Amino acid sequence: MEVDPERAPLIAWAFERYAEGEASVTALLRDLTARGLVSVPTPKRPSKPLGKNALYRVLTNPYYAGVIRYKGALHPGAHEPIVEPALFDQVQSLLKARNAHATRHVQHAHHLKGLLHCGTCESRMLLDFATNPRGTTYAYFVCSGRASKRTTCTRRAVPVQVAERLVANSYANITISEDDYRHLAAEVDAAFDKRGAGRDREFADLTANRARLEAESDKLLAAHFADAIDLSTLKRHQDRIRAGLADIGHRLREHDEQHVGGRAFLHDSLRLLTDAHRAYAHSDDGSRRLANQAFYARLEITEDEQLRPRLAEPFATIVQATTGGKEAEREHTTSFDVACSRKTLWVGPVGIEPTTHGLKVRCSTN
Ligand SMILES: [Zn+2]
Repeated sequence: MEVDPERAPLIAWAFERYAEGEASVTALLRDLTARGLVSVPTPKRPSKPLGKNALYRVLTNPYYAGVIRYKGALHPGAHEPIVEPALFDQVQSLLKARNAHATRHVQHAHHLKGLLHCGTCESRMLLDFATNPRGTTYAYFVCSGRASKRTTCTRRAVPVQVAERLVANSYANITISEDDYRHLAAEVDAAFDKRGAGRDREFADLTANRARLEAESDKLLAAHFADAIDLSTLKRHQDRIRAGLADIGHRLREHDEQHVGGRAFLHDSLRLLTDAHRAYAHSDDGSRRLANQAFYARLEITEDEQLRPRLAEPFATIVQATTGGKEAEREHTTSFDVACSRKTLWVGPVGIEPTTHGLKVRCSTN
């Protein structure tokens, strides 16, 4: 690897210029290209101006500070450095800081970005900006179908503030009352209890078997110390016991996840819904984004600027149960699905007696 006399001064200058902290990599590249920095020609490729990535590689290459990277570690090279190590380090921290800033910027994108869809043609709505002649910039959501002419959609742009208000208001519609909460929580408990009843026997058996195996293991060890059994016999029995205990542990964890975890998940979901509207109104951008992703599978804005939300599970089922429940009660029969994405379990329809709700709890594997 050689830095020729023509490029070396330009590269040294690039490090100094960038370390001043005022020029972006793009601006620096423009300056360097104007000053005549081109790539080293190869038999296949003639020299040409550097691209942004190539310049980025130059600025992060420790070679220019007199260091070579060999098998992942840095070693002092035999060549003359073009830049002082301190200058090189300064450039690295600047690059890192700017990258972090860029990442933050992406993460703090608008909390509705990517969630809204056009109610007319179902395309995703994109965040767009328009600046008026006086220099004021306005943010809008525009239909990507219309913007790209992929569809014949003619829907108007929706000001960001309108979209924000519609979504914030939608949380009032999905918030459930304390009464609803108590009613639904009781149904969830009843369904899990009914399902758990059959499993209690299994749980007791597993626990008893675990205790038996542990006692056997202790006895074997004592026998071995008393020279009653040899080491290979001990080992054979211990292997069997270890395998048995591992299997029991696995079954108990499964038991725990399905019953305790699934039940807690549904209770948490119900609890979230009782406070949804107030919580959303008091949340920061990041939390709103999370909430929108958690509660909604899709949010459409219709041509007359109404929000058409589709709830994600288990919220869709819960809300449906609270709003549709009264009608169903008159018919003396209803059953509802509660699907949750975190746990794998299936609670079969229970309590389908003429005057009670049948509650079906289903969770799909994440
Ligand atoms: Zn559209």
